[in-house]
Amino acid sequence: MKIGILGGGQLGRMLALAGYPLGMSFRFLDPDADAPAREVGELIVGAFTDHAALDRFADGLDFVTYEFENVPVESVEYLAAKLRVAPPVPALRTGQDRSAEKAMFTQLGIAVPAYTIVRERADLAKAAEHVGLPCVMKTLRLGYDGKGQAVVKHTAGETSPRHVAARLDGAWATFDRAGVIVEKLVPFSREVSIIACRGADGSIVYYPLAQNVHRHGILRLSTAPAPDPGGVLTAQAQTAAKKILEHLGYVGVLAIEFFLQTGPGAGVGGKALLANEIAPRVHNSGHWSIEGSICSQFENHLRAVTGLPLGSTDSTGPVGGQSTVQCAMVNLIGGTPSTAELLAIPGVSLHLYGKEPRPGRKVGHVTLRAQTIVRLQERLNTLTALVDAHAQG
Ligand code: AMP
Repeated sequence: MKIGILGGGQLGRMLALAGYPLGMSFRFLDPDADAPAREVGELIVGAFTDHAALDRFADGLDFVTYEFENVPVESVEYLAAKLRVAPPVPALRTGQDRSAEKAMFTQLGIAVPAYTIVRERADLAKAAEHVGLPCVMKTLRLGYDGKGQAVVKHTAGETSPRHVAARLDGAWATFDRAGVIVEKLVPFSREVSIIACRGADGSIVYYPLAQNVHRHGILRLSTAPAPDPGGVLTAQAQTAAKKILEHLGYVGVLAIEFFLQTGPGAGVGGKALLANEIAPRVHNSGHWSIEGSICSQFENHLRAVTGLPLGSTDSTGPVGGQSTVQCAMVNLIGGTPSTAELLAIPGVSLHLYGKEPRPGRKVGHVTLRAQTIVRLQERLNTLTALVDAHAQG
C-alpha cells in the first residue's frame, strides 16, 4: 500500500516509521526540502496549492492523509476528487477555524470557555466585557503552538474601560483582520487531552487521558494516564470524542484538548472539562503511545486510513496489559542534550526528528516509562532538569 502524506514534519516521519512494519510505503508533499520526513520516504518539494505538485504527489497512491492541520482545504478537496482521503474534509475545515470549532462543540453539547467572535475592531471592548478579564484573544485561523494569541488582563492602576480598550486595540493591530475570538482565560488546574481513533467501519478506540503542561503556548510535558479517580474525566472526554467523531463521519486519529476548570461551577453536571480545540491528526500529546500502548496512535491512524482493523490502545504493562505502565513524554525544544546523556536515564526512549535546532522549534521528544508513578516522577525530575538545561524558547 502506498500512502501519501500532506506535510513532511515529524508527525509524518513517525507515521511512516509506524507503517513500514505493515508493508506500507510513503510519499510526502512539503514546501521545505529539509522536511524531517525526507529521511523516511519519497519527498516531493512543492507548495500545497500547486496543482502540478499535487498531481505528481497523487500519482500511484492508494490513500492520502495529512499531518499538518493548516494544509489548504482546497488542496485536500482536489485530491479527494480522485483518491481516498482521511480524515474527511469537514474535520480539516472545522479544525482550521476556531469559530466553526466552537460552534461544533456547542452544537454537540460539549462545554467550552465563555467566548465571543469579533469581526470588527469596534466590537472588541463589548466582547471583553461579555467574557470578562482576564481574557485571551486568538486569531480565528492559522494559529498553533500559542502563536496568534494575546492575553489581556487588568493591570494595576489601569483598570478603566479606556485602558482596557487600548490594550485590546494594541493586540488587535498585531492580528489577522479576518477576525478574532475573545475567550475567557480559564483558571484551570490541569490541561488534559484525549486521543481517539475511528476506523473505516465506525469502530472507535480511545487512548488513556494525557495530562499536558504548556510553556509559552508550546507543549512541554505529557504524562499518561492522567490521574482520574473514578474515571469521571475519562468518561466525559470519551463522550465528547465519540460525538465529534460521529458528527464529522471521521476516519483516523483525532485529538481534543481540554481545560480542567477550578472554582465555582467546576464539576457541576459532569462539566469539569472545557474543550479548547481539536486536532484532526496525530497529536504531540499521544507520542508516548509509541512505547506505552500496544498499538501507537501512528499505527492506528494508518490502520484507520487504509481500512484495516484498529489495534489495542491497552498499556504495554507486564503480562497481558494487567498492569498499566506510567509514561511521560518530554519535548526537546530549541536544543537537546547529547544522546548519551539522555539514554543514561533508565526507562528513556529517544526520538530525534532530524531538524536543525532553533529557539522554540520541536527537534525531538523523549518518552520515559516506569512501573509506578513514584519511580516515574524520580526519573522525570532528572530528565526535565537535563532537557531544560539545553532547551531554547
Ligand atoms: P491553543 O493554541 O488554543 O491550544 O492555546 C495554547 C495554550 O494556551 C493552551 O494549551 C493553554 O495553555 C493556553 N490557553 C489557550 N486558551 C486559553 C484559555 N481560554 N484559558 C486559559 N489558557 C488558555
